[in-house]
Amino acid sequence: MTGRELLVEGRALLGGDFEETPARIVVESGIISHIEELGGTSDCLPWIVPAFFNAHTHVGDSVALDVPLEGDLDTLVRPPDGLKHRILGSTSRGDLVGAMRLTLMTMADGGTAGFADFREGGRDGVSALLDAAEGVSCRPIIFGREGGESVADGLGVSSARDVAGGLDEMVSLARKNGRLVAFHAGEKDPGDIDEALGYEPDLLVHCTHATRLQLRRIADLGIPVAVCPRANWRFRVTSTGKKPPVKELLSLGCPLLLGTDNAMGVQPDMWREMEFLATVYRVSPREALCAATLGASLFLESFLLKERNRANFLVIDPRSSNLVLSRDIAGALVYRAGPGNIVRKVINL
Ligand SMILES: [Zn+2]
Repeated sequence: MTGRELLVEGRALLGGDFEETPARIVVESGIISHIEELGGTSDCLPWIVPAFFNAHTHVGDSVALDVPLEGDLDTLVRPPDGLKHRILGSTSRGDLVGAMRLTLMTMADGGTAGFADFREGGRDGVSALLDAAEGVSCRPIIFGREGGESVADGLGVSSARDVAGGLDEMVSLARKNGRLVAFHAGEKDPGDIDEALGYEPDLLVHCTHATRLQLRRIADLGIPVAVCPRANWRFRVTSTGKKPPVKELLSLGCPLLLGTDNAMGVQPDMWREMEFLATVYRVSPREALCAATLGASLFLESFLLKERNRANFLVIDPRSSNLVLSRDIAGALVYRAGPGNIVRKVINL
């Protein structure tokens, strides 16, 4: 064994199907070089699962945690004068960076190794997030706005209806510069989805109120959709397990991603988000796990447990709690486990 080699044995959820396999995973220079199936009994082994990718956040909201969410969506989060924008506008850069950094560390502690953030505040906003993420094992993919897109990974449009003019130019400039393009769409009604779809974005966020026709178009275009169920409930844009139309998205074959959206009202904790998704929207634990990891494959690099992937996984000790009694690892992870069950993080971003 070289000094750079790591060997972990456990009941691993392998590949895109999260197939439970007792396995020995060998990591060399940060890469999963070998996965070898283990024989014999595996009951007392730890569990090995991919790290999470949170597909939609606003970590800048860290400066407004748990302000009372009174009023409608526009009053709270619509630019430029929503409550969060007023709070962000009166916060110093140092306080903003410090607050975002604490949130990022909390996300990393909980096993999230990457996330896609809609960052407000133009170029300064993007640079503040890059500073906050320095040295934290949780890599941001940043969608900027108001000029921030020119120094970020992509352009994040806060609803096609929020842009007074020049959206065409904004999107084509982002494309010309090789940037990703993402839209909030369909959060409170279906009215801004068609316009967003006209730009064939790389990512749609929400689609809570997408119509059947719009869903078919999204599926035909193969656009990934990041749903944020807890945020939709917190901001009162839904009160049913049918919106966002998670089941329809899955049955149409849309890539389904999971995000936690506004940190002001929702903790960016993928364990809680997976449990809510599985409970309220009745998806299987494996579908929830897939939604909580797939964004990495699309925007960063795959976290799945496969040979030749970089090693970005979590080791869970089921023996320190009643998790050990579970008859289904995926079920236990989604319905029961949390950050406290992680005993080791292997992160090689
Ligand atoms: Zn959002």
